[in-house]
Amino acid sequence: MLPKAVAFCQSVNDVREVVGFARQRGWPIAARSGRHSFAGYCNTTGIVCDVTQLNGVRFDRANGTVTLGAGNDVQSIWENVLVGGGRGIQNGSCPSVGIGGLALGGGLTQSSRQHGALVDDVVGVSVVLPDGSFVEASAHKRPDLFWALRGGGGGNFGVATSFTIRTHAAPAVNVFYMTFDWSKAAQVYDAWQKLAPAAPRTLASCWLRLTRVPPKSGSGPYELSVAAGGHWTGTKADLEALLEPLISLGPEKLPITITLTPAVTAYRPGGCEVLPNGSTQCGTSGNANYPNYQRSDFFTKEIPPAGIAEIVSQVENWPGGPGAYEGGVQLESFGAPSKMNAVAPDAMAWVHRDTLYHTVYLNFWGEPQSAAANIGWVNDFYAAMRPYASGQAYQNYIDRGLTNWRTAYYGNNWKRLQRIKREYDPHNLFAFHQGITPAR
Ligand SMILES: Cc1cc2nc3c(=O)[nH]c(=O)nc-3n(C[C@H](O)[C@H](O)[C@H](O)COP(=O)(O)OP(=O)(O)OC[C@H]3O[C@@H](n4cnc5c(N)ncnc54)[C@H](O)[C@@H]3O)c2cc1C
Repeated sequence: MLPKAVAFCQSVNDVREVVGFARQRGWPIAARSGRHSFAGYCNTTGIVCDVTQLNGVRFDRANGTVTLGAGNDVQSIWENVLVGGGRGIQNGSCPSVGIGGLALGGGLTQSSRQHGALVDDVVGVSVVLPDGSFVEASAHKRPDLFWALRGGGGGNFGVATSFTIRTHAAPAVNVFYMTFDWSKAAQVYDAWQKLAPAAPRTLASCWLRLTRVPPKSGSGPYELSVAAGGHWTGTKADLEALLEPLISLGPEKLPITITLTPAVTAYRPGGCEVLPNGSTQCGTSGNANYPNYQRSDFFTKEIPPAGIAEIVSQVENWPGGPGAYEGGVQLESFGAPSKMNAVAPDAMAWVHRDTLYHTVYLNFWGEPQSAAANIGWVNDFYAAMRPYASGQAYQNYIDRGLTNWRTAYYGNNWKRLQRIKREYDPHNLFAFHQGITPAR
């Protein structure tokens, strides 16, 4: 799909002009920040309103907040707020994801067990509305719009130009990493799902990955791997005690590495390369340049042994193909003690507050002829998990394949979102395939 035009805005007034231009001509308009929408919803047949040059950073030390232009990406947030400003902030892990989509659609970060989703730290949003007016939304100004923007805002209610976000102290953290023999995969999964979501918030993050990768040597059988890791803000001894059920499943030698790490290193974005000109290129050292198709799920209940066996078997049967990178699952824990689940599901549009963990079905293949088998594999895997998954889906892992996306992304908040849409965008200027439509 090619847009008629792309407008690179340098000011709020530019954004207002672009919105007015689109409205007068009846052109569809799409806001664009970091261009990481899985479904390409920052694109349109009309005009793309690119905000990447609105990349200011302003601290309010007295209030402990920072105001970030909507053009900042994860790399620039890390550089300016954590490295430059000495303050911790909820941030993504891929350097080139934009704050525009991240902050409006949720923001699951490496400290979300401790501080919540990024939306939970957003205290104000500046936005150009479909009628061209420039407004602030916060708990005190346009609270309905503020409610909707935090979880329902990506591409739906206008163009956000800046976000004011709470920051945190940024002490050193214990970063841990452990690997296991594939023969223990099912036991590790079960131990992890019992342990990580129930852990105290000091376990700022805890992930688990079950993956299948082509052999590093280039020939021979594919390799299977199980690894877990995360961030802990307490002592090493307490972490070891907490993780004992996992450690006991690890190999006898070097079952776990725990490294006290300055926050700037522990929360440094990775997986992409920062080029000499300062821009980031996704996938040069990671996987994002590979053709891929990923789906995701929230789990709110522990999976029984039959479900775990299904997961292990699915990973073992990832088709891959020539030049493929990896396939498998990546889990990120939350759980009842987490800050993310301490917020009511109707406190803002972001509704997913009963999550034990979030799962992404990963799949990066190489050659075009492998596409059908790999896409089929993800869809089969996803279908096999229906008896166990919650039915909710993360709107920032936006999934064109979902038919029940209204409920999956927004749950019981959908109707209120539609009413707010009717108030702010009655003619649905900001429309896309999985966009919020105005209530009739
Ligand atoms: C490699 C990769 C890594 C990721 N890592 C994480 C992660 O660690 N944590 C996590 O939670 N998510 C992650 N995501 C998902 C990510 O949060 C979403 O894809 C997000 O929507 C991307 O935002 P963007 O601004 O980069 O993308 P865009 O494609 O520019 O925008 C995404 C959506 O938001 C809208 N939008 C963008 N800017 C604005 C604006 N200023 N005003 C109004 N609407 C706007 C667009 O119209 C579009 O609908 C990742 C995605 C990828 C591809």
